[in-house]
Amino acid sequence: MKPILPGATLGVMGGGQLGRMFVHAAQSMGYFTVVLDPDAASPAGRVSHQHIVAEYLDAPGLGQLAETCAAITTEFENVPAPALARLAAYTTVSPAAASVAIAQDRAQEKAHFVACGVPCAPYAVIETAAQLAAVTDDLLPGIVKTARLGYDGKGQVRVATYAELAQAWLDLKGVPCVLEKMLPLAAECSVIVARGADGQAVHLPIQRNLHRDGILAVTEVYEGNMPPAQVEHAVAAAKSIANELDYVGVLCVEFFVLDDGSLVVNEIAPRPHNSGHASIDCCDVSQFELQVRTLTGLPLVQPRQHSPALMLNLLGDLWFVRSDKAATPPWADVLALPGAHLHLYGKASASRGRKMGHLTITGATVDAARATARQAAEILGIEAF
Ligand code: ATP
Ligand code: MG
Repeated sequence: MKPILPGATLGVMGGGQLGRMFVHAAQSMGYFTVVLDPDAASPAGRVSHQHIVAEYLDAPGLGQLAETCAAITTEFENVPAPALARLAAYTTVSPAAASVAIAQDRAQEKAHFVACGVPCAPYAVIETAAQLAAVTDDLLPGIVKTARLGYDGKGQVRVATYAELAQAWLDLKGVPCVLEKMLPLAAECSVIVARGADGQAVHLPIQRNLHRDGILAVTEVYEGNMPPAQVEHAVAAAKSIANELDYVGVLCVEFFVLDDGSLVVNEIAPRPHNSGHASIDCCDVSQFELQVRTLTGLPLVQPRQHSPALMLNLLGDLWFVRSDKAATPPWADVLALPGAHLHLYGKASASRGRKMGHLTITGATVDAARATARQAAEILGIEAF
């Protein structure tokens, strides 16, 4: 494939923060951008050269996007795979609709892990009352997750007993779900792989992730954040998952680390990922530049990390630390810290649990970066880690 060179126009389905950072990367490389998102005030729509305000399955909107763009990608978990399939009839689309469809359905996703020989948490698919009745006690306590349309812990219920499980499935309106055994987690980590149409793959340094209430809170990226054997294992597993999908684009693979040090895969995201945001400031190629490169068929170069880094998610809660009325957090105080990189997504209003931005702290050493990140957390009212 001949690469699509700067000067061309690239499209993105979805206008959230991931789309916004894709647009920033594409524009800085000299591409024009078009975002399709139904929200006129979407974070990516606000910074794109063009914004098509339309639903993801809107035929005229998709037609306009396909006509304008040399290649199109996606940024949002829940952009319907059929919309990507439609676009692919007219122009280059990556990742492919088939890969996105697998990642959008937890049952299909887990079946793929099994096919790749990569272990995941013991689980059962619950689509019918008979499947619910057949659940065995060894999966309890567990977490019921809707098979589709979940993110940031939404659509998940923790259940301790069979009665709670039955009630949870009722509360979730009997939609297709998976029940996953609750595992004792020693840690969580993720690997971001970028794979080109020629099958060549590169990856970002492994991210160690701390979640709070099902939402990513802190990511630590530096040499020694995980034992070397786990790093090697996780990178190999992530690449094999991407290869087996014949995946083109940026793929994030999330892992659980169990008490005995073994790794199980949690889920995949067919796009850049919150846990990869530090790459903007701590690596010589960011996950968003990798997305541009895979989409356009430009060369993939193995990214190199130049600074130890920690990323703190800035949730809407931080606007309510001092009062019940939303108040801007003390950005100036945070920016007085060395190596502080503030990224705000341009969302009009803050609410609890909403991802408003992130803060990456880079340092000359791991200790310096960690100490500064702790200071930043204290200034902002983020719980110590
Ligand atoms: P996101 O899209 O933000 O990654 P999500 O809604 O897809 O989140 P999961 O990744 O499935 O949610 O779960 C969110 C978090 O809940 C995990 O990172 C982990 O901390 C916890 N969790 C999920 N499943 C399990 C499990 N089987 N055992 C223990 N903890 C779990
Ligand atoms: Mg997750």
